[in-house]
Amino acid sequence: MSTPDYPLLLDVTGRRVVVVGGGPVAARRVSSLVACGAEVRVVAPYVCESLWELVGAGRVTLALREYTPGDLDGAWLVHTCSGDASVDAAVAREADAQRIWCVHAGDSQTATAWTPAVARVGEAVVAVSAGGDPRCAQRLRNGIAAALADGSLPLRRHRAGEGHVALVGGGPGDPALITVRGRQLLGQADVVVVDRLAPRALLDQLDDDVEVVEAGKAPHAHTMTQEAINDLLIERARSGQRVVRLKGGDPFVLGRGGEEALACRTAGVEVEVVPGITSAIAVPAAAGIPVTHRGITSRFTIVSGHDGPIDWPSLAATTQTLVFLMGVARLAEITERLIAHGLAADTPVAIIERGTTPQQRTTVATLATIQSTADHRQVRSPAVIVVGDVVALRGRLETTQS
Ligand code: SAH
Repeated sequence: MSTPDYPLLLDVTGRRVVVVGGGPVAARRVSSLVACGAEVRVVAPYVCESLWELVGAGRVTLALREYTPGDLDGAWLVHTCSGDASVDAAVAREADAQRIWCVHAGDSQTATAWTPAVARVGEAVVAVSAGGDPRCAQRLRNGIAAALADGSLPLRRHRAGEGHVALVGGGPGDPALITVRGRQLLGQADVVVVDRLAPRALLDQLDDDVEVVEAGKAPHAHTMTQEAINDLLIERARSGQRVVRLKGGDPFVLGRGGEEALACRTAGVEVEVVPGITSAIAVPAAAGIPVTHRGITSRFTIVSGHDGPIDWPSLAATTQTLVFLMGVARLAEITERLIAHGLAADTPVAIIERGTTPQQRTTVATLATIQSTADHRQVRSPAVIVVGDVVALRGRLETTQS
């Protein structure tokens, strides 16, 4: 028996590949050949629906008949998967005579080429063979693909390439709450520019030679200006580095991500925005508070307590959940204004500090009493303030974490 032991990657772009057979196996082969740019010719008396779609899309030529000798003329490669052993054997013989590599789905004895199980992540292609055991190869492939996708197998390039900026939402604090894409990009980064509220435990997983730049934003600590951050992202990308700008929550929710993305675009630097789980929704949830709930409210508003004037009358006008970010320092003003504009003084309020982290703590009171309760408990930023009747659900929905 011949053993496949010489791995090779082929450039099939614009080259003829003949597929004999029209069933689901043929369809899968044709689909990946088309994706790699091959000029695919299918020979089969009958073709299944997914293969018809590829033919209909004009990407494959079809000879709707039995295979006849001569069909392999001009081919660089042939796949035979007709389902008929004698046809496959005839194809394999012709391929051998013409010195064309032949992948023979039904009979590895007469095959001269084998398709591995393949995982593709970014530019990386991983092809796995496990001798004659395709299932074992697929399981290995799936394991490698999962590890590549979630960044636990690093995909860092060690050659120069185009620089790139990714604005990655890190989620509310728990390092498990970043997206798969975000984690993957972190695994590829040359430099990570990080905010104080980003899930910093993720930094521990970086390779030692990945540079970490603190963008600050801690009260009293040295803080880079927004302009300095923008310049740094642009300059590093231009020098060919893969830059991850790791932010807390979602980059486009009160995170100035839009400004950073615009600065990169204006400078002609490629930028990808990876959404994150925003603390505005996830932190109340971690404390057992859904921001909407059937029969209570179907509306919520996220308000920044930090910048700009607040439209108090409209916040107090309807039954809705109010979620204040960066609001702890203005708690007195928030409660007084909402009551002054008509919100009931006994409306429930929750303040959740450091949500989704081991330090998470929830303080519950009413609009009238929350200020003194928060003072007493020395509530500190970062915290999310939730105002509305949904807060009352907490007793029934809170988990051990909250
Ligand atoms: N882009 C972020 C918000 C940035 S503004 C997001 O989508 O979540 C920073 C504010 O977010 C903090 O002042 C605080 O109000 C809130 N915040 C962020 N992480 C938090 C956490 N783990 N617990 C409580 N509040 C948090």
